[in-house]
Amino acid sequence: MSGKPTGVQNDTGAADPLDPCELAPSYIRAIAPYQPGKPITELAREFGLDERKIVKLASNENPSGLSPRARAAIEAALPELARYPDGYDLTRAVSDRLSVAMDRIVLGNGSNDLLEMVAGAFLAPGRAAVFAQHAFAVYPLATQARGAQSIVVPAKAYGHDLAGMLAAITPDTRVVFIANPNNPTGTMLPADEVEAFLRRAPRGVLVVLDEAYNEYLEPPLRCPSVAWLAKYPNLVVLRTFSKAYGLAGLRVGYGLCHPDVAAMLNRVRQPFNVNNLALVAAMAALEDEAFVERSYQLNVAGLKQLTAGFERLGLAWIPTFANFVSVEIPREGGKSAAGAVYQRLLRQGVIVRPVAGYGMPDHLRVTTGLREENEQFLAALERALGEGAP
Ligand code: PMP
Repeated sequence: MSGKPTGVQNDTGAADPLDPCELAPSYIRAIAPYQPGKPITELAREFGLDERKIVKLASNENPSGLSPRARAAIEAALPELARYPDGYDLTRAVSDRLSVAMDRIVLGNGSNDLLEMVAGAFLAPGRAAVFAQHAFAVYPLATQARGAQSIVVPAKAYGHDLAGMLAAITPDTRVVFIANPNNPTGTMLPADEVEAFLRRAPRGVLVVLDEAYNEYLEPPLRCPSVAWLAKYPNLVVLRTFSKAYGLAGLRVGYGLCHPDVAAMLNRVRQPFNVNNLALVAAMAALEDEAFVERSYQLNVAGLKQLTAGFERLGLAWIPTFANFVSVEIPREGGKSAAGAVYQRLLRQGVIVRPVAGYGMPDHLRVTTGLREENEQFLAALERALGEGAP
């Protein structure tokens, strides 16, 4: 901690040798906090830019905004805000939509909340979680916050190596996190490989199948994960309303699992973890299938536009199945230039996501935007690359 109060006098006049940071367990002190995409308002302040001209393609958000039906539901629910929320109706709606019993559904403040609940209920010092290199940053964070060990399995062509992950399971392992598609690589796993993993994984290990980007997969590529719940009592499927449903700012997601696992997650869940507005908006969004379909189509077009642009600029990218793509930035003078190009993009009012923290120092992750936003990004990228040319 900066400005350490070590050795200061406490109010009894005695010397107090405590640094408040020392009160936190060492595994908490060792956490490197999550780095979100740079907010538009912050960039506007820093560079004196007009917020309306800034393009943010940094957080895998839905460029269409939220569904008009969700907006109407939020407006109608405003008078109810003095009341605590009740997740019953959304749980029922998810249950009806997916034909999953209500006692198998746990709502979360974003699917991130469910990752935390899984870690809180099943991980502890002396236990371990297995996940892939370049996998979503919250897996190591949630694991570390419980003092558990992270077993990181080297990626194969940026994707998960499921055979390697199976082999990495130790007697202490309680959780395996699988992101399908994965963020920030955009890679995906075929359903038969995921099911082969489920068949072989020990029943005493929870397999968390994080499907945050499921709605962006072509329908034939989606796993029949909901049907798998009946066969694999150790399976936890996570979904979110943050991406294709356009509700990232409201924070709502859900987990599907065995009722006994759900009961464990509910032990560590905050009583009112999903707020009233998020609940009603998610119900409306769930019904607005046309909005989800438009989001899917917009993403297909966006990926085409971005990758065509990369091709024109002679850049390589990781083949993607989500609403973002990680593009490789050519080195400058033998050194990684992704950080410099990120800064040059910022100065032009374009925010993307550096992924050096994911062990990908030569890539930048770009979320698909509206056609004009993608165009603005590609033009800015071309200028940014030009600035670094010898
Ligand atoms: N899983 C993955 C793979 C993600 O990329 C994200 C969001 N970045 C989440 C889970 C969490 O999203 P949310 O909490 O908004 O549902």
